[in-house]
Amino acid sequence: MRFGYREVCLDHDTGARHPERPDRLRAIRRALSRLHGVVYDDPDRASVEAVKAVHDADYVESVREFCEGGGGSWDADTVAVEATWDAALASAGLAQWAALEALDGADGNDTTFSLGRPPGHHAVEDDAMGFCFFNNVAVAAQTALEAGAERVAVFDWDVHHGNGTQDIFYDRGDVFYASVHERGLYPGTGEVPETGTGDGEGANLNLAYPPGAGDAEYAYGFDEAVAPAVERFDPDLFLVSAGFDAHERDPISRMRVSTEGYGLLTERCIDLAEGTDAALAFVLEGGYGLECLAESVSMVHEVFMGRDPMTPDRDANDGARSVVTDVREALNLE
Ligand code: ZN
Repeated sequence: MRFGYREVCLDHDTGARHPERPDRLRAIRRALSRLHGVVYDDPDRASVEAVKAVHDADYVESVREFCEGGGGSWDADTVAVEATWDAALASAGLAQWAALEALDGADGNDTTFSLGRPPGHHAVEDDAMGFCFFNNVAVAAQTALEAGAERVAVFDWDVHHGNGTQDIFYDRGDVFYASVHERGLYPGTGEVPETGTGDGEGANLNLAYPPGAGDAEYAYGFDEAVAPAVERFDPDLFLVSAGFDAHERDPISRMRVSTEGYGLLTERCIDLAEGTDAALAFVLEGGYGLECLAESVSMVHEVFMGRDPMTPDRDANDGARSVVTDVREALNLE
């Protein structure tokens, strides 16, 4: 597995008490430095044109002006400094790199993980929100399509719903979006009946889980809903919007995924990508407990190096099973 990383992503300074802070990347890098087989690339930043392929042009220019003017609070959660412009383009460029390198090496088992910030999945076509300015995974998906991929699937395991990614591709049939998230948490979107519209009908899946879901529920939802839907969609590229804030030790959610659980999900993503002959790439989203974030990213790498994660010692609970039943019905999965 190859990691993409750029120092400039540390310059997006959100202030001392902001959960989405540069120390997140430092903690990940420190943990990875103790492992074997970690290789880094430092790809170019995204072009403004690439970002405008999924965002409104006026919005992109307003972000540029906001940063050039020194930044400040875009909204209550989303803050910028002058360097945020460069960091945001670098973060989008890292995601593009992850997608293109994975596609290039699809037959050589060349999986990539972009370690960028600011994160992206809340950014909608014409607005920043939820710590996100440019939707990195959406830029990556669009870039892959323009490079020749016919279909791209995005699986978003961040604990929050990726409203931006869903919105950008909601009426399109060439990008499948699947999210597992804590129902009722920010931004409040991502209900089961949101299955896409027009050409995108059936290409949007929301496992809106009640709080408290853990490894057993995440594995069950992947096996019974995400995997069959992605198999049916048959993507050329499988992108993981990899946030680690559903971790049992993360400070901002009530989900109970363990570090081993992220290993389990990683193993399932590998199997699904192999089964559908898709390239596989990971794009960092959230994750706010420094230690458990770093441990979990390390776990993803270790699974690629051959580690066999532990399976859950219990079955999925009734709350999760009922959501999965509803999702299967909403998407006609059989
Ligand atoms: Zn999140």
